[in-house]
Amino acid sequence: MLVSPHRTRRPWTGRSEAPTPPAPAYDPECYLCPGNRRANDAINPDYAHTFVFDNDFPALLPDAGAERFEGGGLMVAQAEAGVCRVICFSPRHDLTLARMSVEEIGRVIAVWRDEYRALGAKADINSVQIFENRGDMMGASNPHPHCQVWATKSLTNEAAKELAAQDAHLREHGACLICDYLELERTAGERIVFENEHVTVLVPFWAVWPFETMVIPRRHSGTMDGLGEAESGALADTLRRIAIRYDNLFETPFPYSMGFHQAPTDGEPHPEWHVHAHFYPPLLRSATVRKFMVGFELLGTPQRDITPEAAAERLGALSETHYLDRGT
Ligand SMILES: [Zn+2]
Ligand SMILES: [Zn+2]
Ligand SMILES: [Zn+2]
Repeated sequence: MLVSPHRTRRPWTGRSEAPTPPAPAYDPECYLCPGNRRANDAINPDYAHTFVFDNDFPALLPDAGAERFEGGGLMVAQAEAGVCRVICFSPRHDLTLARMSVEEIGRVIAVWRDEYRALGAKADINSVQIFENRGDMMGASNPHPHCQVWATKSLTNEAAKELAAQDAHLREHGACLICDYLELERTAGERIVFENEHVTVLVPFWAVWPFETMVIPRRHSGTMDGLGEAESGALADTLRRIAIRYDNLFETPFPYSMGFHQAPTDGEPHPEWHVHAHFYPPLLRSATVRKFMVGFELLGTPQRDITPEAAAERLGALSETHYLDRGT
């Protein structure tokens, strides 16, 4: 990782993204709004809070079979069985986590817990990835607040890397990697964005994206399902607050990919795993100027223009009143 804080002063004549216009509360063309027809002719129920369904265009199918390809010992491909679900956060087309109440986000967390538990209980599902892509810039096809769950037989690359690191740390030090890391960060303080009674939001030491953060429940648990009621409420509170701060940073609906890393669902106890969320936002210096992972970063090592400490300080100093809700 290379950090070059002097670089944000360079002139920018490259690509600027167009700001997104505000969405209406209901969109008759939206396939996620209540009562609307989806591409496969299913009609959405007139849901009041959250709504979950199997993705109509899934990247994974439950009956993928056991086909395997091997070429010269260097190329290996394996059929991957899995399930793709869609979770609408709200019937309101124009809401986002930043504009929802803690109680409403709490209902979303309850659905995340249910989905992880139900999908993870299936014999051929060992990994459950919950993620949200928000904004055109992240390739989100619809502004309606929603996330996806992709459940797979194989561990994803990121889960496999994190499993190996957490497992090695537990074996070497007899302690959880993320519990130990949290303690270091809370002692240093300089990369903490904010925290509440049970959850800490920080810019990780190794952050690659300019305003990347991690949301970490402080008590050790491998899953969201292992959190108590107060901890789930605290998680809802932190998700709302970091989403507001992100929107306030450049006074724009802030694009990001976010998701939870939870213990594999392979039937093993996984004492090494500590549940957390990552936010990966692409914006660098305004609502329209994004960071690209190209050139040296693609071919060499990630490089960042602002230090993680400066990013944490900027996010930490922001108001928690959403810019759209400020008095006129
Ligand atoms: Zn909608
Ligand atoms: Zn831990
Ligand atoms: Zn992770």
